[in-house]
Amino acid sequence: NRQWLLAARPQGAPKLSDFNFVETDIPTPKEGEMLLRTVYLSLDPYMRGRMNDAKSYAEPVAIDEVMVGGTVCRVAESNHPDYEVGEWILSYSGWQDYSISNGAGLLKLGKEPTKPSYALGVMGMPGMTAYMGLLDIGQPKAGETVVVAAATGAVGSMVGQIAKIQGCNVIGIAGGEKKCRSAVEDLGFDACIDHKAPDFAEQLAKACDAGIDVYYENVGGKVFDAVLPLLNPKARVPLCGLISQYNATSLPEGPDRLSMLMGTLLTKRIKMQGFIVFDDYGDRYDEFSQAMSKWLQEGKINYREHLIDGLENTVESFIGLLEGKNFGKLVMQVGPE
Ligand code: NDP
Repeated sequence: NRQWLLAARPQGAPKLSDFNFVETDIPTPKEGEMLLRTVYLSLDPYMRGRMNDAKSYAEPVAIDEVMVGGTVCRVAESNHPDYEVGEWILSYSGWQDYSISNGAGLLKLGKEPTKPSYALGVMGMPGMTAYMGLLDIGQPKAGETVVVAAATGAVGSMVGQIAKIQGCNVIGIAGGEKKCRSAVEDLGFDACIDHKAPDFAEQLAKACDAGIDVYYENVGGKVFDAVLPLLNPKARVPLCGLISQYNATSLPEGPDRLSMLMGTLLTKRIKMQGFIVFDDYGDRYDEFSQAMSKWLQEGKINYREHLIDGLENTVESFIGLLEGKNFGKLVMQVGPE
């Protein structure tokens, strides 16, 4: 049983030496338990926060513990009355080949799901994050301008496409020409601006000539700096993530602009609200799942997965996620289906 353990708390960007790749015996399930074999492991930005020993909405991973993570598994052995060998399960088994479960917190994915890994992306946590943040907090109306950062990622790609379904004008922000082109050609956004371009702020202002009514925040930093002056009165800002800050070890240098931010929120009467998807919307999974399944069936949602083979490549792939190397939802193929 191969496992990735957290060896040290990363200072700044995580390094390979912050983790240990170990091999242990495959555990044996007791009565009422089962052995799960990981097929797919989801890599998500929140995992960076779990590596820190800081007070947050979830407990940190302890040193020498297996890194946490959402997984799609198959039942390899079962001493549990409700589960049969071979069944597909959505689990939270972490960065390892095998885990033991008593059934708590698992979701059955059916006998032969057509796309089992979708449960980690479009039909799972990132998809639901996009849906709830945009529709419940963003409240987009037809004709309004919606801007979304990390536009081709797991969450952002769904935000923009759902906003298009609502009849909005959608402007994405992404890193590099290839991702920006794909946001327009594959995802149907009206435009997508490269945040690495030297004149990024000017290009964004030009694309948003009617201002911004909803800004779906995934990134923070200089992307937010460019967005703030473009927000319209009564704009809504679902505050979903701040990935550009996850490796930060101190506050950024420069003048304190907090009073400017608060002044803008006040005079333009802007609503900015943070949320943690399952804490705030866990009871609305069925609503999301029905809406998203229908859109997928109707061909209204295009979903791009970035699949990387081999558990041994997990740390490198995670480091890449924080540098924008993924193009689509990042998923590790840990074992064969
Ligand atoms: P993505 O698939 O979008 O991957 C991360 C992307 O972030 C990268 O590909 C890169 O895209 C972009 N990025 C990374 N660093 C920077 C930077 N310094 N500046 C600008 N962009 C950067 O990840 P997810 O869709 O899974 O997550 C998106 C956001 O949503 C994250 O902030 C995450 O924490 C948050 N989230 C929040 C949840 C909640 O409940 N509140 C639940 C799930 C996710 P590019 O190359 O285009 O720059």
